[in-house]
Amino acid sequence: MLGGGASGLAAALAAARSGARTLLVEAGTIIGGELLTGMAIDGALNGRGQWVVGGVARELFDECERLGGYVGALCDWRLIWYVCVDPEVMKLAVYRLLSRYKVDLLLHTFATGATARNGQVASLHVLNKRGPMELKAKVYIDCSGDGDLAMMAGATALPAEARHPGLQPVSIMFRMAGVDTQALTDFVRRHPENCALGESDAIRGGRTDQECADEIHRQGQPSVFFKSGGPLLKGAIERGEMYPTALIMIQPTSTKRREVCLNSTRIGGVDGTDADSLSAAMGQLLDQVWQCAEIAKAGSRLRRRSLQRRGKPRRYP
Ligand SMILES: Cc1cc2nc3c(=O)[nH]c(=O)nc-3n(C[C@H](O)[C@H](O)[C@H](O)COP(=O)(O)OP(=O)(O)OC[C@H]3O[C@@H](n4cnc5c(N)ncnc54)[C@H](O)[C@@H]3O)c2cc1C
Repeated sequence: MLGGGASGLAAALAAARSGARTLLVEAGTIIGGELLTGMAIDGALNGRGQWVVGGVARELFDECERLGGYVGALCDWRLIWYVCVDPEVMKLAVYRLLSRYKVDLLLHTFATGATARNGQVASLHVLNKRGPMELKAKVYIDCSGDGDLAMMAGATALPAEARHPGLQPVSIMFRMAGVDTQALTDFVRRHPENCALGESDAIRGGRTDQECADEIHRQGQPSVFFKSGGPLLKGAIERGEMYPTALIMIQPTSTKRREVCLNSTRIGGVDGTDADSLSAAMGQLLDQVWQCAEIAKAGSRLRRRSLQRRGKPRRYP
């Protein structure tokens, strides 16, 4: 298996569980990829909140739950249902499963090429600090996220720009701890005009925006998408305090740490397979993380002042 993101992990666990001797090759330092960022996991439930996946995904969630790091299946009352877990616990859950099914790992190892014979992959060339190596297997699975193995074995693809003019913006997730999540859901209920709500009819189910916001509040978890068209974000973007973005997506990662994951940063026109372009984007993305965090903190200070004006007790440190 080339690539230790979510797909490589699932493929490796499924192969090993079926009795195949399995090697998972990963350029990075750890297996899990985006599963470890705190991003909520889409696609495990349908729009009605019914589970539609089992297998490896459920095993992983169960392991997170045993370790106390399962937040739950939540609805954003905008578009979908998803599964929220503590990414720090997920790191361990991933390793427990890899070791349970005896998957061999080769981390810090970059695939540089492949040999193909009669249209089939015959070997994979990798490089790590020990030097170059050639790996041979009965079956190769490309989980590189970029189709690297297929391309190295001679497959052709259209340039990214031709396939997707404008390219999807690149972004990075970040997490904030010590968030007063009760105050956040209170704010959502009082100011639904700031939130992206009911974009899917299946989710909305005839509810008004206010009723969707009430559902978020009832759900009791900081699971909300602030939209750029709402007064809070629109004003910040117009004043130049915030980079142009469509949404700030907030999802819970740990109830104990009162921690949330934020997905909002974005830079357009970057080809994710081009190292120069990606390297240049990183500094700008980190600036955006800082700006977004400042806006989130400013929002909570505004609420604190308004509570003080109304003579309510301070609930913020
Ligand atoms: C901005 C954004 C937001 C998203 N939001 C969500 C969300 O909210 N919820 C959700 O469920 N999904 C979301 N997704 C989608 C989700 O992140 C991806 O579908 C998923 O991570 C893809 O997993 P993967 O294993 O196929 O690829 P990747 O996660 O890209 O994993 C590929 C792995 O292969 C390794 N690799 C690559 N090339 C080589 C090589 N040559 N040699 C060795 N190793 C290599 C990489 O280091 C990496 O670990 C989002 C994606 C983006 C970009």
